[in-house]
Amino acid sequence: MLADKDRIFTNVYGFQPWNLDAAVMRGDWDNTKALLQLGPDTIIDRIKASGLRGRGGAGFPTGTKWSFMPKAPKPDRPNFLVINADESEPGSCKDREIIRHDPHKLIEGALIAGFAMRARAAYIYIRGEYIREAETLFAAIAEAYAKGLLGKNACGSGYDFDVFAHRGAGAYICGEETAMLESLEGKKGQPRLKPPFPAGAGLYGCPTTVNNVESIAVVPTILRRSPEWFASFGAENNKGTKLFQISGHVNRPCVVEEAMSIPFRELIEKHCGGIRGGWDNLLCVIPGGSSVPLVKAEHIIDAPMDFDGLKAVGSGLGTAAVIVMDKSTDVVRAISRLSYFYKHESCGQCTPCREGTGWMWRVMERLRTGDADLSEIDTLQQVTKQVEGHTICALGDAAAWPIQGLIKNFRPELERRINEKRGGGASPMMEAAE
Ligand code: SF4
Repeated sequence: MLADKDRIFTNVYGFQPWNLDAAVMRGDWDNTKALLQLGPDTIIDRIKASGLRGRGGAGFPTGTKWSFMPKAPKPDRPNFLVINADESEPGSCKDREIIRHDPHKLIEGALIAGFAMRARAAYIYIRGEYIREAETLFAAIAEAYAKGLLGKNACGSGYDFDVFAHRGAGAYICGEETAMLESLEGKKGQPRLKPPFPAGAGLYGCPTTVNNVESIAVVPTILRRSPEWFASFGAENNKGTKLFQISGHVNRPCVVEEAMSIPFRELIEKHCGGIRGGWDNLLCVIPGGSSVPLVKAEHIIDAPMDFDGLKAVGSGLGTAAVIVMDKSTDVVRAISRLSYFYKHESCGQCTPCREGTGWMWRVMERLRTGDADLSEIDTLQQVTKQVEGHTICALGDAAAWPIQGLIKNFRPELERRINEKRGGGASPMMEAAE
């Protein structure tokens, strides 16, 4: 188990105040000027050496991403850092804890990361529903300006850097990085076609890097405690500590910082008091937020909770939003509800997503009630394959994967409902299984 002395987020439960004085007592803003004096290239090299991979879901190496930014921005085309705080993935609730209880980690990280990328400013795009969190964030930024930590000559470093917080209006799709840029520019939040990628033409057509809140908030501690310290946690290629958000049928749902690659069973036993009704009662787990496929109990129990370990069991770490379902769950209904979510949040730009998400949800509902035809299971599978990879952004994939995971793992259950509704008894597959 991760020792308390190795936790980056020491106020994640809000036992202490969030404000600047308390943050300074926790070690934030401690001689930030000295960190900036390392210089942009050294900071990027150290973040690369730490093995930090993006905490927003994609898992791209953070230092490498920063190195794509122009080294000599033109005066009329500055570099920008955009921080994605539009946390809207069902199951995800970690960025919220950082912002409401430890906002100065994020703001200091924004300065250091922005400096490393030679950015003129950082924009923190916060989810519209996070009203109290946004209030805290605005107040924390004001505190930092008042103390000279941001703005002209930030922290006495000679570098000018601004941080702006921008509230979204509640659209899930604005968490997609290019939709976020459109929204920041005051337009409809619809994803852009790539290329060009944001590092080439992002916010206002200027070079931009979009990073997740957690990816930025861990940066000051990595630089203070050394990249080697951070890289000492987790398995190869999956380094560091991570905020896990465990919800559903565990005895004590929680957000907890742990070492990457901790086995699922250990994570649940140590921090959540085990599965409701015991381990034999575990049905399946969605390990990384609603857009990754579910994993059956027998495959997840010993899986390492990291990018590669969860990929190996056919799913993904995503945002590490672990949704646990015990045997009381109507798993078809649960996935159908997610299908409704993606249908609702589709921005409607591309036909496979706009039409496909609604179509998939309607079939899912018929499967839930057992009113579908057996052949529709295969048709649904084929349609998910026609949506996946054929859209502008990843929402199409996110809508397809949970259904694919359901069909792969719970096909007999889908067949049972259809056969029962027709009074036909057990399906051939069920009989074969028996
Ligand atoms: Fe919009 Fe869906 Fe296309 Fe993404 S995949 S751009 S959400 S229609």
